[in-house]
Amino acid sequence: MYLVILGAPGAGKGTQASRLAKEMGLVHIASGNLLREAARSDSPLGLQVRPYVEKGALVPDDIIIALIKDKLGNLDQARGVVFDGFPRTREQAQALGAALSSMGKAIDRVLYIKVSEAELVRRSAGRLACLACEATYHVQDNPPRVPGRCDQCGGELYQRPDDKEERFRRRLRIYEERTAPLIDYYKQAGLLVEITNGEEEIDKVYEELMAAVRAVG
Ligand SMILES: [Zn+2]
Repeated sequence: MYLVILGAPGAGKGTQASRLAKEMGLVHIASGNLLREAARSDSPLGLQVRPYVEKGALVPDDIIIALIKDKLGNLDQARGVVFDGFPRTREQAQALGAALSSMGKAIDRVLYIKVSEAELVRRSAGRLACLACEATYHVQDNPPRVPGRCDQCGGELYQRPDDKEERFRRRLRIYEERTAPLIDYYKQAGLLVEITNGEEEIDKVYEELMAAVRAVG
């Protein structure tokens, strides 16, 4: 099974994708983690990615496509994948389709989590991440047991630069320009399922996602 989770930054893609992956035995490919990981390595692709990640700038399609292909090439192909944060543009979607097709695979479903802009801004303003293990928290919705410390590893929590309000609003504008057209792209391909209760609690959203996944058969 190959799934794509679409939605604005902060719509809950990562949380839902990681749970889907765990419960269905799929590999979770999160573009944000993939980029941060690559930026820390000294591989040729890592060196290309690093300046963009450090500036919080958009990584060009050809670089991110190369990273994803590299990742797909190193996977156990018996397992499916949940893509989270990728594709982000029509070019990336086309490249992903071609890469999967060369492996004899295809996207089975695209799950689009709908959330209003006001809720997205509220979520990002309170989000904290662990410097050591990347676990995420929210000051209201999912506070750590000890303020400022990661429950899982005791690492220091911080606000990712991408979550600061000015940068976050810029990411929303970019999302609307570049990624929102993917909704139509996948709708026309007959692959899109809209998850309309994206603002409800995590379990409710997950139920709706699972119902859509089970319908694939
Ligand atoms: Zn941690």
